[in-house]
Amino acid sequence: MNALAATNRNFRNAASILGLDSKLLSSLLIPFREIKVECTIPKDDGSLVSYIGFRVQHDNARGPMKGGIRYHPEVDLDEVNALAQLMTWKTAVVDIPYGGAKGGIGCDPKDLSKSELERLTRVFTQKIHDLIGIHADVPAPDMGTNAQTMAWILDEYSKFHGHSPAVVTGKPIDLGGSLGREAATGRGVVFATEALLAEHGKNVKNMTFAIQGFGNVGSWAARLIHEGGGKVIAVSDISGAVKNLNGIDIVELLKHKESTGSLQNFAGAEAMDPSELLVHECDVLIPCALGGVLNRENAADVKAKFIVEAANHPTDPEADEILSKKGVVILPDIYANAGGVTVSYFEWVQNIQGFMWDEDKVNNELRKYMTRALQNIKGMCQTHNCNLRMGAFTLGVNRVARATLLRGWEG
Ligand code: GLU
Repeated sequence: MNALAATNRNFRNAASILGLDSKLLSSLLIPFREIKVECTIPKDDGSLVSYIGFRVQHDNARGPMKGGIRYHPEVDLDEVNALAQLMTWKTAVVDIPYGGAKGGIGCDPKDLSKSELERLTRVFTQKIHDLIGIHADVPAPDMGTNAQTMAWILDEYSKFHGHSPAVVTGKPIDLGGSLGREAATGRGVVFATEALLAEHGKNVKNMTFAIQGFGNVGSWAARLIHEGGGKVIAVSDISGAVKNLNGIDIVELLKHKESTGSLQNFAGAEAMDPSELLVHECDVLIPCALGGVLNRENAADVKAKFIVEAANHPTDPEADEILSKKGVVILPDIYANAGGVTVSYFEWVQNIQGFMWDEDKVNNELRKYMTRALQNIKGMCQTHNCNLRMGAFTLGVNRVARATLLRGWEG
């Protein structure tokens, strides 16, 4: 089942638990706007190459639409639609005043030079600048993009509309970015994990963790778990996987990756098959990479007691069912990885107010939002007698449904 079918299915289940009528259901399901643009750029050698860029604006009932821009070869309209819809529920789950959107370009950023990436980002911005805006739609980084990408979008957008730092978040600090934004998704994952474990009378200190993905989200989550006394026993990324049952020294692993560009040949751990990571013995499994990695092929073999979905839709619906039957507790993506967009909201607020917060304030506020959201999700789980995924979906969908009904339909 592709990401869009899986997301729609979760939404429909939540809508049926909430008893939403069919008019409201279609209004919430159908995206507000789908944008598809051709982006042709000259490569460094002078030849021309064309890419397709997307921005799907899913819903704006609760505020400006918000979500990242992804550069990845697998980006297509269906995937961007699914991710845009997930953003609508995610911003509602953590109760920040935004709707949902997502964008992407079907390209492999590793094949493009920095100047080619800059040209591509500027052309994409030229094609969508009229449809984004501080109070309309606010992009941010996602897979394959970063603070530099946001700086180019800000610069290009500002040529048309004047200097507008709040039009993107996840910017470099020098251009109005927020302290703590770079680490925010990983930090939010850890706050969410701590809140979940506390519910079960446990804490990070005495638990073992396996982390799939060592990019922005995975490496920050690993570092913060390690700092908090948790034992990270396995880590993987695109270059391979490593394990050490006594706990990997994440600070050393980060230094190794920084200097060699890969996890391979790290002295403080032994190599393992990356596919083994997901089914390795551990207390908490944190997938921080692509979607669909937990599926019917491997779900029955998962040994973790808790899964924290730092990636978007890492568990497909079949795996969800298998894992639930096994009693595995899954903290769903629309809550677990909401720390990034929450600090994006703080960045936008700081830009609009023209007042910078210190990092402690950012992190303390993030902890408050993440802790409160889990309490709200648990409340829905009790009311509707459902698991955490449906607790999060019903919470998010209900908030958006209420806003939609309050605004009303014309005629
Ligand atoms: N790309 C991140 C996400 O999927 C952050 C989005 C944002 O900050 O707007 O949640």
